[in-house]
Amino acid sequence: MRQKIVAGNWKMNNDLNQGLELAEAIINLQHEIPEDVHVIMAPPFIHLADIHRKVKDTRLKISAQNCAEEEKGAFTGEVSASMVRSTGSEYVIIGHSERRAYYNETDDVILKKINLALKNDLYPIVCCGEKLEQRENGQYFNVVREQLENTIFKLSSEEFSKVILAYEPVWAIGTGKTATPEEAQEMHQFIRKLVKDNFSDNAAEDTSILYGGSCKPSNSTELFKQDDIDGGLIGGASLKSKDFVELTKTFS
Ligand code: PEP
Repeated sequence: MRQKIVAGNWKMNNDLNQGLELAEAIINLQHEIPEDVHVIMAPPFIHLADIHRKVKDTRLKISAQNCAEEEKGAFTGEVSASMVRSTGSEYVIIGHSERRAYYNETDDVILKKINLALKNDLYPIVCCGEKLEQRENGQYFNVVREQLENTIFKLSSEEFSKVILAYEPVWAIGTGKTATPEEAQEMHQFIRKLVKDNFSDNAAEDTSILYGGSCKPSNSTELFKQDDIDGGLIGGASLKSKDFVELTKTFS
């Protein structure tokens, strides 16, 4: 079912103690989180098991920020989807633009990761979004369509039903520059239509599509109010417990 979701991507921030403190602070504020809002935190890999132990009796869920494209074996430094699942994490972010830009992740790699996540009972949070020059030269719909055609549209309907999508215009991530609610809604509506054309009306209605890119309590009300925006994938503002919880209260 289409859900309201606020997911926090901590990126490479917070050592273990700081991460545990942030999780604790969010747990202490969880009574403020509306009942119909699902809250997910994505700390670095090495914090997952400890943070899961802290949140396991709460409504908060845990996600990894990435997983390996291979199942297991001699891949020094990598962390597999099954390892992620064994920490108690239920979600994994796949295809974040920072992974695409700094670690050369292609759509093929992203599809392999999505398949491994699904095989290991993880819900993939799959990111898509255009770069600044692609927005400026009017290519943004084509770019996003191609990213989705090369990845999630290769899944079966049943597999796709586990996917959460995140539209993150690259020019808005960590820049303080947010897409306007109209720009974001226009793309979310486009993505939902593609889901409908590739799967079904029901799939389109049931898919949660999150917006990401400098989303914070001061702009989330307008964004979350849009028909096709079901919540946010939050970077910077997820590192402050009050802001993160505040975001969950800005759905109308
Ligand atoms: C992100 O990294 O997914 C993100 C949206 O970051 P920020 O909110 O900091 O722009």
